[in-house]
Amino acid sequence: MIHHTCFKCKRRFELDPVMIGFELSKLKTNSPKHYQAICPACRAVNKVSVSQMQTELESVADEVQKVVEEHEQAKAEAKAAKQAKAREKAGQTKGKEKPKKKKAKAEKAR
Ligand SMILES: [Zn+2]
Repeated sequence: MIHHTCFKCKRRFELDPVMIGFELSKLKTNSPKHYQAICPACRAVNKVSVSQMQTELESVADEVQKVVEEHEQAKAEAKAAKQAKAREKAGQTKGKEKPKKKKAKAEKAR
């Protein structure tokens, strides 16, 4: 866990490095410099420097990767389900093969 002290109310709170890694991965920037943590006590946005958390983040890199992949997969599945429904609505499905397989692991596997 990463401990951070709110700059505003000085309350200490914990940050989950996996969560941070996941949030950072969703950002458009490739190497974000800060993570915006919201203080649970006063809701102030605290900018936490990423380099400061580097070791923590690296130690959970595998977990972050897993969470990111699961998230991507869930998103892809939701999309596929939506498309399948749309197709059904369009009356094109004749009960043949269900388009359940989406392009499996297109994610960059580093
Ligand atoms: Zn605070």
